[in-house]
Amino acid sequence: MDYVLLSYGLLIIVPLIAYWLIKKKFQILFLFRSKRLAKKVDDVAKKWGGFVDKMATFGFIIGTGIFGFWYLNRKYKTSRKYLLFAFGLLSIIFVAWLLSIPLTKIADITLLSILFSIIFGVGFVLVVALGAQGMVIIDSLFTGAKACPSVAPVLPGVALPNISLTIPLFEGWFALFLAIVVHELSHAILIRRYGLKLKSVGLVLLGGLPLGAFAEPDDKQFNKAKEWDRYRVLAAGPTANLLLAFICVVLGVIIVAAAAPYTIAVNQELVNGVVVVDVQQNFGMCGEGEETGAYAVGVQPGWLVKEVNGDAVTGFETMYPHLGTDFANQVITVTFEDTQGNTYGRAIKLGSNGLMGVTLQQTTSAPYPWEYETILFSLSVLNWCFLLNLMVGLFNFIPLGPMDGGLLQSELMAQSLHKKIKMDKKKLTKLINFSFLVFILAIIVINALPWFV
Ligand SMILES: [Zn+2]
Repeated sequence: MDYVLLSYGLLIIVPLIAYWLIKKKFQILFLFRSKRLAKKVDDVAKKWGGFVDKMATFGFIIGTGIFGFWYLNRKYKTSRKYLLFAFGLLSIIFVAWLLSIPLTKIADITLLSILFSIIFGVGFVLVVALGAQGMVIIDSLFTGAKACPSVAPVLPGVALPNISLTIPLFEGWFALFLAIVVHELSHAILIRRYGLKLKSVGLVLLGGLPLGAFAEPDDKQFNKAKEWDRYRVLAAGPTANLLLAFICVVLGVIIVAAAAPYTIAVNQELVNGVVVVDVQQNFGMCGEGEETGAYAVGVQPGWLVKEVNGDAVTGFETMYPHLGTDFANQVITVTFEDTQGNTYGRAIKLGSNGLMGVTLQQTTSAPYPWEYETILFSLSVLNWCFLLNLMVGLFNFIPLGPMDGGLLQSELMAQSLHKKIKMDKKKLTKLINFSFLVFILAIIVINALPWFV
């Protein structure tokens, strides 16, 4: 499993625990409750209610899979529902197909991922990826190979082990805050639209910094509300996150395309070389996998790349013709220069991915203008908003206990199955919820095993 992507997923656990603490009335975090904010939600609900309503219906389908199809098929009489079903099915397949490969290195789980997502909803993309990684870990534990844990806690601003990547503090915080606000607000809008009470609305503050938001319904009243209203309230939160993730991608693509003439021109003017910022010991995670060519011949961070195969290097563009899978396992000659002006010639064997095993950065003759930096910063914000909203959305659609997907899926499944297996609906709901919990917890424990074994 891609360490980085999954770790982002674990960023979600922090707010989830916070959310759980709030629910359980352990008020460690400071909660700012506001009557004026509650009034504001009413205004927003009047304006956006219709849209959020439609969005939630669509999200209900992609979040619950065939059980959602079953439910809506009984509910809607017109043939227009088939359009919704077709669009929903395509969206599920698209999400599962798109994410299976980046989420895991085990290529053939795509089909499994699509299948499970159609049955249980898109949240299962994460469960299948974790499950597949769990199988690899069990296998390697039995064969004695060192396994790589895929469950690692990550905090913004803290570097990941073995990966030269840090979740930027501002973008990480902002994206998380936005994801939680959008999520809670969408629940709240529908709660108000269906005439239900909001017990309290407010912000979660940690040391004065807003960490999230909450919108608590009146539980007793909510549980007695109409079934379809409840389902849509639950689906609205994670759906809003998935929609926002999608919007971030579209905005990102537009900005990159629109700014391309400018950024290319700036780079042509300013870029004058390439510097090594980091040298990886191995390809792959956790120090396993083939040793990198750069590490083998002692390349050092801080060295400038002057020549590759005799061609002068003045930027990434001058290096591309010598790297990549076309040159897998070939040896290239590279001339480096350190800060004192000493030069080093090295013969570097490229990995099977056609790379040297270094992180490179372009050097510039002058600092980038602020307009250029602003564009980069906007893209970084969009990138983090995309990742966190995607993860918050998928995570909340996992059919797990107190989360939206758990409340939604267990009841929906029980509703569709209880007559066939002649079991009390409430009992079956609890049983399904418990089974999912045991199943998913087992997968998470297996994934964390290498930390302890
Ligand atoms: Zn929610």
